[in-house]
Order: sequence, then structure tokens, then C-alpha cells
Amino acid sequence: MIEDTRPLFGVVGNPVAHSQSPFIHQAFGEQTGRLLQYDRILAPLDGFQTCVDAFFSDGGCGLNVTVPFKEQAWRMAAGKLSPRATMAGAVNTLWLQDGALHGCNTDGAGLVADLERLGHAPSGKRVLLLGAGGASRGAIPALAQTGCSAIHIANRTAQRAVRLRDEMAAQLCAYPVMLTAGGLDDIPHAWDIVINATSSSLDASAAPLSIVIDYAPGALAYDMVYAPQDTPFMVQARNHGASRAADGLGMLVGQAAASFAIWHGVTPAIDPVLAALRARLHG
Ligand code: NAP
Repeated sequence: MIEDTRPLFGVVGNPVAHSQSPFIHQAFGEQTGRLLQYDRILAPLDGFQTCVDAFFSDGGCGLNVTVPFKEQAWRMAAGKLSPRATMAGAVNTLWLQDGALHGCNTDGAGLVADLERLGHAPSGKRVLLLGAGGASRGAIPALAQTGCSAIHIANRTAQRAVRLRDEMAAQLCAYPVMLTAGGLDDIPHAWDIVINATSSSLDASAAPLSIVIDYAPGALAYDMVYAPQDTPFMVQARNHGASRAADGLGMLVGQAAASFAIWHGVTPAIDPVLAALRARLHG
């Protein structure tokens, strides 16, 4: 048997079967002339740390982390976090350096790059963020740094949104953004950009969120979830007055490009991989 000597990367989550990260990283590898192996790893909900330890002790080079483990990954890499990860309190990119586990958060950079690509740069805009999990944690510092005027965090568990707001407000006091938070049932005034960072759309047959949103003229509704067809959130947003609705495929490719740059020291081009992935999803 011929031994596989390609450096090993992967994405760990639960669920993880939907992840397109293997395709993206293989495409980046081909684009930049790097041979690599990239696997999906399903971790038991109570077995994330064991999974990560086993991956790196078996010679793994880099791991992406997805739902619901980003905050656990942050704790595991404590002391070796990038500034973006420190601020976010969540990690989606892990690697070993000098024998120590390091962590970064590339979700925010991927999100902002995609909003700009869509022609909805957040600077000066009012942003409504649905969800208060790891993805929201990554998004808030990156959005604040673009100069958006307001961010309201609305979450099913309102207390979690308020805690996240307090934590972020303490870290982002250098930025002139108004940060507020609450539940899904009392979302205030009009929004230019509405981002669904809940995992509610992961199940395509799930009922849309029970929410009332006031979309400003020209507003963008952005679902971090991606699917071959419009997600329930995108359909609902158009029906409720959003001018445009987009899924999170561009964010996915953008955050992957930033992870790839950390692991391989080269930044791949996003557009051709996004186009190939979109075509692949549409079969
Ligand atoms: P997470 O840490 O597990 O947080 C999940 C969030 O979703 C929590 O705020 C949770 O609210 C909320 N939620 C779950 N089910 C819900 C439901 N049925 N109704 C209303 N709220 C619900 O997950 P995450 O890492 O933040 O990821 C969130 C989503 O973003 C996932 O779908 C993930 O796939 C997607 N994402 C996409 C990208 C991309 O590149 N496109 C990157 C990152 C994440 P509670 O606090 O009340 O439980």
C-alpha cells in the first residue's frame, strides 16, 4: 500500500456532512500548486476536545471548526489566539505552531469581504444580527471595524444576546458603533443589512424564524447558511420587504481563503472557487 504523505487538514463540527470546505480547500490547493488532504470530521457533542487532540497527535496540520464548537476551540487555544480571535471569543481556525495549539477567527473577514462583493459595504449602515453564537462573535468586531453605525444583536435566548453585547461593547469602545441587544420578539426600527447568524436555516424544511423585521429601502438580507435553493430566511426576507437576499456561500469561501493563508502562507483567489462551488451546488 502506498502511504499518503499529503499534509492533512479538516473541518470538525456536528453536523458537518453539509460542509463544502473540502471542495474549497482542494480547489485552493490546485490553484496555488499545493497537494493536500482535507476531511470532514464529525465530533460527538461531548467529544470535541478529544477529536482535536487526536487529529493533531496523528499529524494533522490545520483544522476548521464549525457549529457548535467555536467557543470551545477558543478555550482550547487560549494564550495563543490572534487579535481577531481574542476579540471574537470564538475560533474557526486551529493549527499547531512550536508544539502549541493556535487559534484565529476568519469568519468576520469572510463576511465583510462578501458584503463588499455584493455591493453592500457595512460602513455607515445599520446592521441587524440574528443569533449570538460563534458566528456572531466573529462577525461583530469585523463589522464594527468597517465603521457601521449600529449593530443590534437579536437572539432566541435574549440574555445570551445581552451578554454578548456587553462583552463586545467593552472591547469595541474605540469604534463609534451603537451596540444594542434583545430577543427575537422585539426587534427595533429599520435595518440596512440583516444577517441571519442563527443555525435555524440549516434544516431546509424548517419553519422560518418567527420574527418581524423592518427592512430599510434597498436593504440586504444575508443568510450565513448556504444551500442550492433559497433558504427559508431568504424567502421570508424577500416577502417582508428586503430588496435583495443572499446566502453565505461567498462568506464561506472568504473565511476559507483567510484560513488557507494562515496555514499555507499564500492567499488564494476567491472568485473562481466561488463560481465553481455555486455551479457544483446547483448540480
Ligand atoms: P452556534 O454557536 O451553535 O449558535 C447558534 C445560534 O443559532 C444561537 O444564537 C442559537 O440561539 C441560534 N438558533 C439555533 N437554532 C435556532 C432556532 N431554531 N431558532 C432561532 N435561533 C436558533 O452556531 P454558529 O457557529 O454561530 O453558526 C451559526 C450559523 O452560521 C450556522 O448555520 C453556520 O452554518 C453558519 N455559519 C456560516 C458561515 C459561512 O461561512 N457561511 C460561517 C460561520 C457560520 P440560542 O442562543 O437561543 O440557542
